[in-house]
Amino acid sequence: MLYNSTQNAAEVVSSAQAISQGISKDGGLFVPQEFPKYDEATLQSLLKEDYRGRAKKVFSDFLTDFTAEEISDCVEKAYTAEKFGGNNPAPLALCNIDGKELNILELWHGPTCAFKDMALQILPHLLTKSLKKTYDGKTAVILVATSGDTGKAALEGFKDVENTKIIVFYPVDGVSPMQKHQMNTQEGSNVTVCAIKGNFDDAQTGVKKIFTTPSVSEKLAENNMLFSSANSINWGRLLPQIVYYISAYCDMVNEGKIKLGDKINVVVPTGNFGNILAAYYASLMGLPISKFICASNSNNVLTDFINTGIYDKNRQFHTTISPSMDILVSSNLERLLYKLSGDDDKIVKNWMDSLKSEGKYEVSDEVKAVIKEKFFGGFCDDTDTKATISKMFNEQNYLCDTHTAVAINVYEQYVEKTGDTTPSVIASTASPYKFSKAVLESVAPDSELPQSEFEIVDVLNSISKAPVPAPLADLKNKTSRFSDVTESDDMETYVLSALGIK
Ligand SMILES: *Cc1c(COP(=O)(O)O)cnc(C)c1O
Repeated sequence: MLYNSTQNAAEVVSSAQAISQGISKDGGLFVPQEFPKYDEATLQSLLKEDYRGRAKKVFSDFLTDFTAEEISDCVEKAYTAEKFGGNNPAPLALCNIDGKELNILELWHGPTCAFKDMALQILPHLLTKSLKKTYDGKTAVILVATSGDTGKAALEGFKDVENTKIIVFYPVDGVSPMQKHQMNTQEGSNVTVCAIKGNFDDAQTGVKKIFTTPSVSEKLAENNMLFSSANSINWGRLLPQIVYYISAYCDMVNEGKIKLGDKINVVVPTGNFGNILAAYYASLMGLPISKFICASNSNNVLTDFINTGIYDKNRQFHTTISPSMDILVSSNLERLLYKLSGDDDKIVKNWMDSLKSEGKYEVSDEVKAVIKEKFFGGFCDDTDTKATISKMFNEQNYLCDTHTAVAINVYEQYVEKTGDTTPSVIASTASPYKFSKAVLESVAPDSELPQSEFEIVDVLNSISKAPVPAPLADLKNKTSRFSDVTESDDMETYVLSALGIK
């Protein structure tokens, strides 16, 4: 299977090249030229497999330049019961809301307690094998812009992985205290963490700029290094996310919630559009998904886009209690547009150029029509997010985090509007303890808020009785290693100096 750039179809690479490079030279994103098709017999055979077995099947169909042994090695190293607290890294929890069953796909049982682990525990293994095939002997420099969860998950995935270095930038006031502490205490000899003065989009723009500045790449090459990306634009980030939608579907069939072939809806709290795009890709492979429900917070650029076909990032940026979705430029949307426009690289390039120059674009009527048919966009603000957390806890005894609550709230809006009773899977993207303050304020609005993040965790634990994930509990005793803050204009200088390049 080959991959090409969304902005230049003539740029064709292998999967190992796509994963090593992260982003295409023309600034486009790598996409598979076709999708493997899973018929009922294929899904039937996956019912008998566990998560790792299902992952190996999906990976081998997309990474055709990897051997079966290489894929098996990556999967077995990534999804251990030890790292994910059990044999199924992505279990389903069952709740009820307004008398309707909710299947909550808990994607946060990995080492950093957010769904990014599902991809970032395996990406370093895919990347080191890809580098061996393509640029043997070079050191990969991983640059990450994070709104909080990616940074920690990438640091944890890449720490002490040979032939890699990782530098993470986060918006200085745009992540939760727990996220900040998680990153600043990161261990490993190949890691650097730095805050930038600006928001997530500034960090992401800065990283993209460094990637595409030839003089920087040349300096790295002289030092036997090359850039790669662990952001959700890397194909090696998206592919692992396809697996858990297929696996969740199989689990629902095995548990008798649906019959093989039945349609489901998926509800995804969305930022960069990676997670929901993976569900869409699974449906292109034949997974029976009816609707894709795209949930946003007050940064509702995607809600407006789905409703109007106009993407317009010229709007106020809101800092919310679901910070991993505080995003105005959803990078992976580009891949959806490529598919929906019939693999039209020229038109995608036009839209992306217009996004760069004017901060907006309007898609064609054909693309609007498919989006209307397959997607539902909705959003909810902080007040409603808290109300949903409270409702889920008081009525269901289920403690959910702020991002998951946005998804549940938008799902309720969807059901109210449409009356659609299709069984639905809600992607739950973080442990509630990663956003303890907002969660505590939601479930116990009258309780006094303790000073430190860890005291808040303890109070939340004593009220909810939900177990605190071990990786978060252990953080209490760790001291910070990193405290740098830089201007977003100085990111290039910072990177070169962190790498020891003049
Ligand atoms: C990253 C993240 C999201 C958004 O996912 P995208 O793939 O960027 O759309 C949602 N919730 C949490 C907790 C996250 O960390």
